[in-house]
Formats: sequence, structure tokens, C-alpha cells
Amino acid sequence: MKKLLFLFDTDPYASVFDTVVAYDGGADRVTGYANVTPDNVGALVDGTIFTRGGKEKQNTAIFVGGGDMGKGEALLKAVKKKFFGPFRVSVMLDPNGSNTTAAAGVALLAKATKLKGKKAVVLAGTGPVGMRAAAMLAQEGCDVTITSRSKERAEKAAQAIEARFGVKVKPMQGADEAARSKDLEGAQIVFAAGAIGVELVKISHWEGNPAIEAVADVNAQPPLGLQGIEATDKGKERDGKLCFGALGIGGLKLKLHRACIGKLFESSEAVFDAEEIYALAKEMA
Ligand code: NAP
Repeated sequence: MKKLLFLFDTDPYASVFDTVVAYDGGADRVTGYANVTPDNVGALVDGTIFTRGGKEKQNTAIFVGGGDMGKGEALLKAVKKKFFGPFRVSVMLDPNGSNTTAAAGVALLAKATKLKGKKAVVLAGTGPVGMRAAAMLAQEGCDVTITSRSKERAEKAAQAIEARFGVKVKPMQGADEAARSKDLEGAQIVFAAGAIGVELVKISHWEGNPAIEAVADVNAQPPLGLQGIEATDKGKERDGKLCFGALGIGGLKLKLHRACIGKLFESSEAVFDAEEIYALAKEMA
């Protein structure tokens, strides 16, 4: 029986990246739907849960993606609401690679250094990856601050993180590189989660900072988020700080993403969201 993955994307196009990784993770056929919302997802879910029975059902699975964490979370909720009794299939949530990228980055940091009790700053922490990374760092016992160019966006993201994970993170404005470098004062862990190709801080803003122990940056396209690291860094020591670049993190992210896809087809009851994906990342790191 063919393993079928249905990709429900909240964006105007179903993600090519998620489609490729779904095949690489073991799906035999991936069908992408765009502009999926909680209002129109019902019939799509019905198609997944009413077509195969018993153990055969585990050959059908759902992936929820898109570029917006809030929309993805709302869609996952609507998908799960349709499930009842044995009428369910496994589902994974990973808008913009948020869960898998954040989990890979934080798991590598957790393996390299003790996180509990540390002060962590997630630069540009208002996007899907940054919000998930902030939550995972907080759940590891870090005192987490997220920055944004806008105070309102930082506050909104902090509220969304608390509502979803029950952890408090501090919102802080970092309108430009100089302001963001001030946000790093006292930080021991830095996680740069800015948009692709955007430099967030100069090397002088972090390299000489004696408090900083480890830095991670998930932006792979130059200029990198943290000037002075290399995208391929994977635990490389620079000026006494452990550095992880986007490709150093991306290797684990891809393996993790593929592994989650494979696991979707092992039962019809799995839900892969932040907690499950982070637990697997820690095993794989
Ligand atoms: P995103 O939503 O596109 O951007 C994250 C935040 O960056 C935004 O919320 C925004 O925050 C800030 N930002 C945007 N433009 C900026 C600018 N010109 N100056 C300063 N800040 C700016 O990012 P995402 O989807 O969460 O992804 C985060 C990063 O992870 C991206 O670089 C993405 O390419 C990368 N990624 C890496 C991997 C991997 O395997 N390495 C996988 C997936 C994604 P404010 O507007 O609140 O300031």
C-alpha cells in the first residue's frame, strides 16, 4: 500500500521544500494543497480518515506547513478537531521548518553546553523559527529574551509563546544593529533567527562579549545573521565561544525532518509538534 502524505499549506503555494523532504523521508506520493484554512480543511481531513481502515490507515498522513506559525497552529487544531475514535491519521506541524530548525539548533546547543539557568537571547525571535527556539530554550530552563525591530511584535510573539507553551519570555525591541547589540548584554546563549540574508549584529557586537558562551545562527544566505561565524560551523570555537551556523544546524534539521516524516507512517496516532520533534532532535543530536 502506498504511503500518502497530504501537505496542507497556509501559503498561496504548497511548499516545494516540504514536498522534497517528504519524499526523502519516505512518502510514496505527496499531494500539496495551498491556501488551506481551518474553514476549508474539513473535507480534506475527511478524505484522509475515511479511506483506509485498521493498520492500513497508518499509510496516510498529514503535514501542516506555511509561513505563519499562528495560522499553522490554528490549522493543526482544526485538523485534530476532525479526528474521533479510530478515525485519525498521524500529523506533523512545521511551518517554515520552524519546529525542525529550532529543535536542531537548540538540541545542538544543549549537547554542547549546559542551558539550564543561562540567559538566552533570540535575535529576531518573532518568526516561526525564533518563536519555537525561544520556547525550547525556555523549556530547557533558560531565561529567554526575544528581540524584534518592533516592541509590539516582540510582545505579541511573547504572548503567543506563553499561550502555547506556558513559559514566559521577555520581549525586547532591537530596532537596529546597535540596539540589538545592547540586547545581548549579559547573554550567555545567542540564537539568531532573523530573516534570510539579513545581518543582525556585527562581529564586534558579540565576539568580545565575555558573557557569551555559545551562538547559533539559522540564516544560511550571506550576509549571515551573526557576522563572523561561518554557515558550516558546528561547535567551532571562535574567541572562546561555541559557534553553530545554518549549515551546521541544517544537516541535523534535514535528518530530523525526514525522520519525522518516516515516523508519521509508523502509526495513525502520532502528532509531531514542538515537544515531540525536540525530543527526537535531542536523541539524534
Ligand atoms: P522570518 O519569519 O522570515 O524572519 C524572522 C524575523 O526576522 C522576522 O520576524 C523579523 O522580525 C526579522 N526581520 C525581517 N527582516 C529584517 C530586517 N531587515 N532586519 C532585521 N530583522 C528582520 O524567518 P523564519 O521563517 O522564522 O526563519 C528564520 C531563519 O531560519 C531564516 O533565515 C530562514 O532562512 C532560516 N531557516 C533555516 C533553516 C536551516 O536548516 N538552517 C531551515 C528553515 C529556516 P521583526 O519584524 O519582528 O523585527
